[in-house]
Amino acid sequence: MTLDLKALVRSIPDYPKPGIIFRDITSLIENSDGFRESCQRLADAHRDKGITRVAGIEARGFIFGAGVAIALGVGFVPIRKAGKLPGETIGQNYALEYGVDTIEIHANAVGPDDTVLLVDDLIATGGTAIAAVSLLRRTGASVQHSAFVIDLPDIGGAAKLRAQGVDVEALIA
Ligand code: 5GP
Repeated sequence: MTLDLKALVRSIPDYPKPGIIFRDITSLIENSDGFRESCQRLADAHRDKGITRVAGIEARGFIFGAGVAIALGVGFVPIRKAGKLPGETIGQNYALEYGVDTIEIHANAVGPDDTVLLVDDLIATGGTAIAAVSLLRRTGASVQHSAFVIDLPDIGGAAKLRAQGVDVEALIA
């Protein structure tokens, strides 16, 4: 049985600013079947890929990434906003609509022996995911697979990520 995951995502108009429709996944994860099936399906799509680590992007990528990592039986690496990790870090800047942001991982969290699955809740422009792939690859890790609950295909981020040599699995378009 396959759940209608799309029906569990709430659309909130004018958040975080007028004209934006925010796709809210809190309604999906409040539903135990919806949450479990989302993580299970993203994991099932990557069972034969030799994944050694799941990396999730702060903050909603932690929610699904943790579930996918448990389902795959591998460890989880948090990709955090700058200044949050206590050990030695490496960082990557990326452009926002206005200004720049920085994401970080612990420098030794992954390395050349790792095959990493990148997880986030949603891909829009792809800017966040592409920065995460660049950051992970700087450690020598292989990053050829990514998993999202939601893709907004009209915005084109998934196509840009594929152009970087990364497969994109998304449950909802
Ligand atoms: P991108 O960098 O692809 O433009 O934006 C994706 C990032 O912004 C993801 O980390 C995602 O969590 C967040 N994001 C942008 N728009 C939405 C949205 O409508 N709903 C949710 N849940 N996250 C969003």
